[in-house]
Amino acid sequence: MLNIVLFGPPGAGKGTQAGRIKDHYSIIHLSTGDIFRYNIKQSTKLGLLAKSYMDKGELVPDEVTIKMLESEVVKYPKSLGFIFDGFPRTTKQAEALDIFLDSKNMSISKMIALDVPNKELINRLLFRGKKSGRADDQNEEIIANRIKVYEDQTAVLANYYKSQNKLYSVNGIGSVDEITQRLYNAIDN
Ligand code: AMP
Repeated sequence: MLNIVLFGPPGAGKGTQAGRIKDHYSIIHLSTGDIFRYNIKQSTKLGLLAKSYMDKGELVPDEVTIKMLESEVVKYPKSLGFIFDGFPRTTKQAEALDIFLDSKNMSISKMIALDVPNKELINRLLFRGKKSGRADDQNEEIIANRIKVYEDQTAVLANYYKSQNKLYSVNGIGSVDEITQRLYNAIDN
């Protein structure tokens, strides 16, 4: 099985690249942000709760997010693997993911981190906000908060996977095709 954590700050290109990786390796793409947005559209209880955090650029509480992610993974018992996009985002989520995967005789193969400088992130997110209509991509204050939340709570996860010898960094600047190729190389090596 190939289980990849695609890591990086908001706007690093995780969603775009995860879409390509899932096709190339025939694995399941699980984006917690996409699942929350789907729930918001369907006006579910989960969506309502998630929206109150997402609108501020804060993280949805761990318990809710972990439970949701686990309930998604079990939907695909025959899958060749998963690409986790936007999860884990806290140490608690990473630990819960390890315990959960272990209980299914699975494990994370690699964490691949997309490196993109902050200034480039803000420009990319504002550009995406114009096209996608995502509220959290249209307001510079919310964007700045998401980057701060990433730095305060999520960036430490690089060390978590590094200590397991699973961290691979990829330069996230360049054309979409160039970056995809770098990601394939990091996965295949
Ligand atoms: P994303 O689409 O990954 O940029 O996520 C958009 C928003 O969804 C984030 O700013 C958080 O509010 C929420 N979210 C997505 N994934 C997680 C997660 N793993 N833990 C907590 N909140 C999350």
